Amino acid sequence: MASCSCGKPAVYYKAYEARLYCKGCFCRSIEKRVKKTITKYKLLQSNDTVAVGFSSGKDSTSLLHLLHEITGPRRDMKLVAISIDEGITGYRDTSLKLAKQVCAGLGIDHKIVSFKEAYGKTLDDQIPKIEQGKACTYCGVARRQLLNWAAREAGATKLAVGHNLDDEVQAILMNWIRGDLVRASRLGTRTEGNDPNFIPRIKPLRFIPERETALYASLKGFPVHQGECPHATGIRFDIRDFLNQLETTYPGTKFSLIEGFEKIQPFLTTAVAKTTHPITRCASCKEPSSQERCKACELWSY
Ligand code: SF4
Repeated sequence: MASCSCGKPAVYYKAYEARLYCKGCFCRSIEKRVKKTITKYKLLQSNDTVAVGFSSGKDSTSLLHLLHEITGPRRDMKLVAISIDEGITGYRDTSLKLAKQVCAGLGIDHKIVSFKEAYGKTLDDQIPKIEQGKACTYCGVARRQLLNWAAREAGATKLAVGHNLDDEVQAILMNWIRGDLVRASRLGTRTEGNDPNFIPRIKPLRFIPERETALYASLKGFPVHQGECPHATGIRFDIRDFLNQLETTYPGTKFSLIEGFEKIQPFLTTAVAKTTHPITRCASCKEPSSQERCKACELWSY
């Protein structure tokens, strides 16, 4: 049987490193990379209250456990979990049930915020009015706004989200294909706003491939919600398949893409800052927005 460099039986082959890993070495490699990201990008500081966007899927589960382990021994840091209930029957209801159990087991405060309470309607209610393949646009805008709002209400100084390498590279390509350089310039491991109502957003898993967050959760025995959102269609999923094909043929493609993007992003941010309005407040809901009326109000108030 093939072995890890430590001599134990291998469970995973990282093609982009051309190296086999046993269970212990693999899990340690993930923990090391996450800690390195946190240190390099200064994602956590003393006295931080970190709100974790938690759905009980593989990414946010790995993130919650990793941050619980890192912040747990520290008296100067606090963790709170926030789940968004979009109102997706047969999917989110089951994942929220698990989310509650996991938080109770870890002793982490858990808050649930719903589209229904915030906008008066669920995503399921909206689906018949949304153009085919655009559900994630509507959902994503509202999710981001509610996560920021709930994090602020919880007194959080950071909002940690479970975006992995695949999510980030998909977002880079998607924005590039759409020519949306403004949105591309806002991607990053740590996103700040110039408004105190915007809670700085951090992505400790940004350099971990999706299949590795899934394997980490599975090897650690974390309970994870396995369902797939019934509304998950659109360009992002075609880009995901295309990137996975490239990665299989040319291992390391996803890392190259994000590293290349990191090099040009400072120039992009400077260029975009000259041509766009700074973040202000939405005239309707008073949440941070780069337009007079924010995208969530525009999409959800009809
Ligand atoms: Fe929302 Fe799209 Fe995620 Fe479903 S897949 S929860 S519609 S963002």
